[in-house]
Amino acid sequence: MSFLSNSSTVHVEVRVKCLNLGLGDMRDRLEPALKTYVQSARNLPHNVPLIPTLPEEKSPLVENVLLECDSDGGQQINPSSHNKFRFHFYKLHPTNAGAGLFDESGNGDGIDSVIAAHHVLLPASQFEGLWENLIYESGLKEKLLKFALSALSFSQHQVDTNVIACNRLLLLHGPPGTGKTSLCKALTQKLAIRTQESYAYTHLVEINSHSLFSKWFSESGKLVARLFSKIAELVADRNNLVCVLIDEVESLAYARSAMSSNEPRDAMRVVNAVLTQLDDIKTCSNVLILATSNLAQTIDLAFLDRADIRQYIGLPGLPAIRSIYKSMLNELMSKGILQREDLETEDAEEGLLSNLAEMSSGLSGRTLRKLPLLAHTQYTSSQLYEENEKISLSDFLDAMRLALEQHL
Ligand code: ADP
Repeated sequence: MSFLSNSSTVHVEVRVKCLNLGLGDMRDRLEPALKTYVQSARNLPHNVPLIPTLPEEKSPLVENVLLECDSDGGQQINPSSHNKFRFHFYKLHPTNAGAGLFDESGNGDGIDSVIAAHHVLLPASQFEGLWENLIYESGLKEKLLKFALSALSFSQHQVDTNVIACNRLLLLHGPPGTGKTSLCKALTQKLAIRTQESYAYTHLVEINSHSLFSKWFSESGKLVARLFSKIAELVADRNNLVCVLIDEVESLAYARSAMSSNEPRDAMRVVNAVLTQLDDIKTCSNVLILATSNLAQTIDLAFLDRADIRQYIGLPGLPAIRSIYKSMLNELMSKGILQREDLETEDAEEGLLSNLAEMSSGLSGRTLRKLPLLAHTQYTSSQLYEENEKISLSDFLDAMRLALEQHL
């Protein structure tokens, strides 16, 4: 277990209740008490939300606190007066805030129910906990976060991109189901929390490449124009940070290569329109583009050549698989489906878990996260099961192994 070195910066992300008080007021009321709390507490969990102990009149204002340090914090942190603290106060926007901005349904011009993009105001309640629950090799998420923060800081300072290359463009590539899309969303949520002082609002616009090219090739041109004019409206206000996520960007490249043959001319226009528009908005200093791809080698898109970071996201290794399993088992324990037992100290269960993790090598995070449900189905169909009775950890691990064997 590693501990925080004395000189690190500790980021304290404080989620406050959505009351009528502004964030500035909340900060004035809470920061001194929170500082006292984190400085005097021992063994605080790193990157796990906690409820701080605060004076009575202050605690109803705080929903939770998450500590993260600049250097790799290990599992626990012991802040002290040597540390620099940076407090980030934030409120969550409710789910669906802004949703439908780009929803083209029901507009009466024949392109009903095509949703070209989703728009979410961040930090959003639907993305809470996403960052902490994505498990990668140590330092990977932090590297991406630092990259994005540095790139935004350069653009805030109007650093000349002819002198220093910085396109605020990030590409995550790797096998399907490895959490690339989730990581992009989690990263934008994190940015929204960490950049409150620079941007009044952070928007996530998720472009659904598939729906652009699905059935409505001939209508897509209109969709693209409308979509980008909405994005341009957001970008025009420099108080906004606009994160544009293009999922499975290879479908744009694929559409382009397919066009050379017999595809309709409209398709060509649509793809070119998307690429030109992306090139245009990319130059705006308050835009960050995040793209994901399952096939990075085959993408041939001019705008991606300028990606500042191309990060490979691979299948989880053994330690990550174990952590993912542990997080799922802990969730089932905390929700009262499994009996509460300590995974670290029970040798038999630890052995079962190690065995399960080894068998799961080569599976994606997405597949792993589906196993508990399959295992529970196995268990409920067995004769051992009695409704309302908590399942023992070892029984459930056996059911997980069975579910895994069936999957394999
Ligand atoms: P991709 O975009 O790579 O296809 P997604 O972001 O759609 O993957 O991820 C699918 C699901 O798998 C998500 O619910 C995510 O939580 C889970 N997942 C994938 N990889 C991991 C990981 N390394 N750690 C935790 N969860 C993961």
